[in-house]
Amino acid sequence: MSDRQMDGDKPSEHDEDVTLLRVPVSLDYDYSAGVSASRFLRGIEQGKLLGQRCPVDGRVYFPSRGSCPQHAVTFGDETVDLSDKGTIVTFSIVRVPSANIPLELPYIAVNVVLDGADTILMHVLDANPEDVHMGMRVQAVWKPREEWTTSTANILYFRAIDEPDADYDQYKEHI
Ligand SMILES: [Zn+2]
Repeated sequence: MSDRQMDGDKPSEHDEDVTLLRVPVSLDYDYSAGVSASRFLRGIEQGKLLGQRCPVDGRVYFPSRGSCPQHAVTFGDETVDLSDKGTIVTFSIVRVPSANIPLELPYIAVNVVLDGADTILMHVLDANPEDVHMGMRVQAVWKPREEWTTSTANILYFRAIDEPDADYDQYKEHI
């Protein structure tokens, strides 16, 4: 018997249409990183940034997926130790909050090409938005050593270093 029937013809709060239903959903994933990503994550646990070189054209991929998307060849076990210094290729000043990014606004999202790498890494820069520019030399700021895990979150952010800007020709192919 419905509420309506119990109350006779008297309207009740249950007669109103449901227009919104909030249902928190969470899903847990067990994700197998695979050989290549495991090697990369074991490296970052030790503070090493490991890339891999394409045997066809010598380009260094970081992070490596274990194969070259351009030449469809696998990279094998050889790795390339990369510096945690790099050059800002492009950037965006973000003024809109995002639920999964706990940074104070505005923050600076950057594409960095690490020294010795040929692919870009997306990260954030700790700087005054008026100071950021293409070609800016930067270096990773790591969490304290005792907090390192197999996570890219070991790098907190990048910060400008006292080096002259890179020449445009050095990073233009990544724009
Ligand atoms: Zn290749």
